Amino acid sequence: MEKSDKDWKKILTPEQFEICRNKGTEHPFSGKYNYCKEKGIYKCVCCGVDLFSSDTKFDSGTGWPSFWEPIKNNVKSETDTSYDMLRIEVMCKNCNAHLGHVFDDGPITYKPGYCINSASLKLEKSLSCFLKVIPKLPEY
Ligand SMILES: [Zn+2]
Repeated sequence: MEKSDKDWKKILTPEQFEICRNKGTEHPFSGKYNYCKEKGIYKCVCCGVDLFSSDTKFDSGTGWPSFWEPIKNNVKSETDTSYDMLRIEVMCKNCNAHLGHVFDDGPITYKPGYCINSASLKLEKSLSCFLKVIPKLPEY
């Protein structure tokens, strides 16, 4: 079922709403996942579908969390001609949330690179992260 803007405003923060539903962009280097190195699955903040794995995350230097590959068929891309630029927009295939853009040029390590707003993502940490923080019992 398609949600209305009113419905989305109830479940998203104003920043998430602006980015995901109004195709906004967070300031570079401002997002909470830009420097995140934790293992897990980045899910759509709107609908919870799996979008990117931390295993495909790399430091692109763009200021946004970047990935070289999306998860299966959960991500779609469309040509975006706003601001008189030709860019590839990345969206959640399930709920059409705006996620970010694909960059195919510039000094990034992997091309194409998916540069995604932190506000569009919700990291579900993998179990191994939690296991690491459990202190080991001393061995006698
Ligand atoms: Zn979604």
